[in-house]
Amino acid sequence: MTKNYLKLQFYSLARNQAFARDAVAAFFLELNPTLSDLSDVKTAVSEAVTNCTVHAYRGNLGIITVECEIEDDSLHIKVSDTGRGIADVEQAIQPFFTTLPDDERSGMGFTIMQTFMDEFRVNSVEGEGTVVYMVKSFKTEVENV
Ligand code: ATP
Ligand code: MG
Repeated sequence: MTKNYLKLQFYSLARNQAFARDAVAAFFLELNPTLSDLSDVKTAVSEAVTNCTVHAYRGNLGIITVECEIEDDSLHIKVSDTGRGIADVEQAIQPFFTTLPDDERSGMGFTIMQTFMDEFRVNSVEGEGTVVYMVKSFKTEVENV
């Protein structure tokens, strides 16, 4: 059985986005992902972390926490902030919904996370923060020889 755990905490600076995405990628290399899986997870992590910087803390400095857990063939990822929170999560995860339309935002971050990962959930409390939980499974096909 494979089990492993990683916790990263860093300031909500835009330049930490690439670091977070690459650290997660390095961590789950042990699951032998395809290039396409690697790219999916990196993109999803980038979107979640960017949301913390742009929306949760709105340019103020805050702490972003990224936790990853490998359990058997699955990678579980939790991206948390203690920022402003989301008033209506159902609405926020709709494609093209954004509260910053004038800011080059297309409202596709959550949709990308949902599409690229196998499981996706958002918990948020206004004024307290947001947790995005995602899972990617790397089931190896049983060979029928
Ligand atoms: P894009 O990701 O395409 O640049 P976006 O960030 O607005 O645009 P989503 O990532 O889908 O789109 O997020 C939708 C909306 O949910 C955001 O506009 C924002 O209002 C809210 N949101 C997302 N993440 C957070 C967060 N961590 N804290 C507070 N609000 C958030
Ligand atoms: Mg976004």
